[in-house]
Amino acid sequence: MCKTYCTSCGDAVAEDNVRWAFDSPYCSHCFDNAFTYCEECDCVLIQSEANYSNGGYPYCDECYENEFDDDSPNNPDVDESDRKLIIELSRNWLFGKSTNKGTLKINANDVVLTRIKEKVGLVDHPIYLFGLKDREEYQLSVSSNLMDNVREFLMLNGLDWKVVEGIGSNRLGISLSIRENNFKEAIQLIKSVTKSHTLQPA
Ligand SMILES: [Zn+2]
Ligand SMILES: [Zn+2]
Repeated sequence: MCKTYCTSCGDAVAEDNVRWAFDSPYCSHCFDNAFTYCEECDCVLIQSEANYSNGGYPYCDECYENEFDDDSPNNPDVDESDRKLIIELSRNWLFGKSTNKGTLKINANDVVLTRIKEKVGLVDHPIYLFGLKDREEYQLSVSSNLMDNVREFLMLNGLDWKVVEGIGSNRLGISLSIRENNFKEAIQLIKSVTKSHTLQPA
């Protein structure tokens, strides 16, 4: 059996006890020292970068803004797909066309999500994409307004990914195993969901 070693302390970790953060394995001791999960959406957070509610619960930027802070600016990180969007917006403006295309919103700490975002590029209906910790019970967390599209895609493509209904609207959480083993299918799923015309504006 192949062994997993903690990214931080190097100890061997039994398969059942491995904790994942940003696609790296940790022992539970090191994980608990450095990471935590968003109270709302389950995404992995670096403790020092999490937002804390008055009750001391950790939240990711996205959920924290939605819950507590209506004034704070959106994630200011700009990457390749954002640049393409800006170029397209300027060009459309020059030619007097309007566009409501956008890029996926992601937690920029996550390397795989950044790759997915760049692969997907500009979409008609941007959604918020986040990384899920792997669970037995589900591999996708899907806002109710995206649910029909996701289920239809999975059915048409013969994928038996486990889905639960998540909070909010236009939010899609993808487990580590899907991000790692089904990268292509994940891209197709996101492209299909963000093309649909039944979505609410993000
Ligand atoms: Zn460790
Ligand atoms: Zn969150």
